[in-house]
Amino acid sequence: MSENCLFCKIIAGELPCDKLYEDDEVFAFKDIAPQAPMHYLIVPKEHLRGPEAVTEASERVIGKLMRIANDIAQKEGMANYRLVLNNGAGAGQTVFHLHMHIIGGRPLAWPPG
Ligand code: 5GP
Ligand code: ZN
Repeated sequence: MSENCLFCKIIAGELPCDKLYEDDEVFAFKDIAPQAPMHYLIVPKEHLRGPEAVTEASERVIGKLMRIANDIAQKEGMANYRLVLNNGAGAGQTVFHLHMHIIGGRPLAWPPG
């Protein structure tokens, strides 16, 4: 747990969220400001500041994020969805605890712009 990290506080239950999934390594919840009808976030419980902080020690859990993200998408009826990881403020990262966006529920333009 990293002090003053919003997502660490959500994982710890110190801040509320709409939880979708939890196990000993992974936590998923609804985005507070959805960019599409379905917009979820899935995070490792371990505090990593972003994709740039992934090492061999965490790569298995990072792969698990994708597997659980797909499970959630299928359960929610999203045949089409987009997974997004932002690294750095210039790429739109605003919360510095690694998170994968799961976005769907409407047609998704590509490229995103
Ligand atoms: P980023 O821009 O860092 O890739 O994504 C951060 C995401 O976290 C944004 O989509 C934002 O809406 C979401 N978010 C920020 N604060 C909260 C919060 O307190 N609760 C939830 N559920 N989502 C949040
Ligand atoms: Zn954190």
